Amino acid sequence: MYRTHTCGELRASHAGQTVTLSGWVHNFRTFGGVVFLVLRDRYGITQIVTKPEAFADAHKAIESARSEWVIQVEGLVKMRPADQFNPKMATGEIELEAQKVTVLNQSKSTPIVVSRDEDENEDIRLKYRYLDLRRERMTRNLVLRHRVVKFMRDFMDERGFIEVETPILFKATPEGARDYLVPSRIHPGHFYALPQSPQQLKQLLMVAGQDRYFQIARCFRDEDLRGDRQPEFTQLDLEMSFVQRDDVLALVERLYTEMLAAVAPHKKLFASPWPKFSHHEVVEKYGTDKPDLRFGMELVDVSDIFAKSEFKVFKSALEAGGTVKCIVAAGGAEMTRKEVDALTDAAKSLGAKGLATLAATAEGPKGTAAKFVTPEELEAVQSRVGAKVGDLILFAADARAVVNKVLGGLRVVLRDKLNLADKDVMAFAWVVDFPMFAWNEEEQRWDAEHHPFTMPQLSDLDKFETDPGSILSDAYDMVCNGYEMASGSIRIHRRDIQFKVFQLLGLKDEEIHSKFGHMLEAFEYGAPPHGGMAPGIDRLIMLLADEPNIREVIAFPKNQNGRDVMADAPSTVEPKQLKELHIKLE
Ligand code: ASP
Repeated sequence: MYRTHTCGELRASHAGQTVTLSGWVHNFRTFGGVVFLVLRDRYGITQIVTKPEAFADAHKAIESARSEWVIQVEGLVKMRPADQFNPKMATGEIELEAQKVTVLNQSKSTPIVVSRDEDENEDIRLKYRYLDLRRERMTRNLVLRHRVVKFMRDFMDERGFIEVETPILFKATPEGARDYLVPSRIHPGHFYALPQSPQQLKQLLMVAGQDRYFQIARCFRDEDLRGDRQPEFTQLDLEMSFVQRDDVLALVERLYTEMLAAVAPHKKLFASPWPKFSHHEVVEKYGTDKPDLRFGMELVDVSDIFAKSEFKVFKSALEAGGTVKCIVAAGGAEMTRKEVDALTDAAKSLGAKGLATLAATAEGPKGTAAKFVTPEELEAVQSRVGAKVGDLILFAADARAVVNKVLGGLRVVLRDKLNLADKDVMAFAWVVDFPMFAWNEEEQRWDAEHHPFTMPQLSDLDKFETDPGSILSDAYDMVCNGYEMASGSIRIHRRDIQFKVFQLLGLKDEEIHSKFGHMLEAFEYGAPPHGGMAPGIDRLIMLLADEPNIREVIAFPKNQNGRDVMADAPSTVEPKQLKELHIKLE
């Protein structure tokens, strides 16, 4: 028997018992001839002490043990003297007096010190991920992830959903990224594609009458690794038959609300029921379709106030059909010149030509727009936005989309600078009524805003020929704290509409048949109305664990260049393998 208890288990109530623990040497120190060694496993740490006179062999073995050796200790659980209780350790009231020690395995000196949560270079942590994962923080993240996923599985099961595995070797199923391709050995020149999501398969399960499906699904997208992305990530993929939008939203809202209370009770919901915005409304108010609602600072349109303005910046934007909007940074009038310059740079990097500001001070208005604004305009703006003495008003004047992007971006910059958002608040919200198509200027064609299987709103069906840009879809997003947490939609279940959408996306008839013939055909055999969504799991755990990026909550992530630096993947392969796959490298 390797152990009777774990290293996180022993309490005062065990005092007097003889027990056996197995684990890793976390750290050790010698004090007055006695060795204090801390033994660790996934469950916690326990202090081991020696009694050199009585148990000389055990003492010797403990003395020779080094960090990260794996040892087994049999001994007596003893109360620590009251003044040596360690309230920071769950086992801090006791210690284990070693009577018999067996070294189960030794360890070289480790490239990262497990017992110290240092900020090493991330690639070192990832190269030695099996050491990094021994750390308490990483264990905590893995356990949290397990609890969330288990909660999801139980919740879905209780509501009649069945978990169905869908193939990883499949055909391109578009979510707007590049596919990872897998060459076929037995079909020369033919490739599987790894699914960007199980989208088509879950819809086919609905056609198959399975009614309520879910899967903790891996998705593969060969995207540029800008920002916090991974080539493969995990979603709670779900699909339901005979539902409308609000049925899907209600289910997911309930799941997240209950899950939060169960697995992360220190996180508070910002609002319940969750706010719901149309895509248009949210972009106008927050400048983005994934707003952080934990603080106000809404975008306010002041174009009408400056309709007759002689201020060149405002005048030229308005004359060109643009708009003037502003946000208010409460207390921002105190900002130094340097701080305002940094905001101006941020605005420029978001696409603005500059940044007009008005600081309300006791001595009157200051800032780059102060000279050009009439007292009437000033008063009208201040009263519309509710600015008080000490506040800073930041303006953007340009085409509407630019203005929204700039002020939406500045909102986030100001949030971080002024510490406006509480990290323990989860501000979930729904965004609905997305445009169905977005014009791709570069390729001069329409793209699906969500994906091509999304149902256009039925009242817009006659706009396919006349005004595709104005068609709204039955798609929805779940957002939280400035992140998109999930997307979903009611799906097309009619062949004629699906065909029309593919055509509008510029697919030729042959292409439609070769790529999606199986979907169109399935729709001819009694496809039920259906819809679903796919909340991302990695980002959710990141927020619940207060981690700065999703790599911290994935056991074996790729690094920021998309490499697995532990196993060294991707890597070259033997020429023989390539030959078998009928592949020649250029
Ligand atoms: N498959 C979609 C995605 O991965 C989600 C959905 O529509 O259910 O974003």
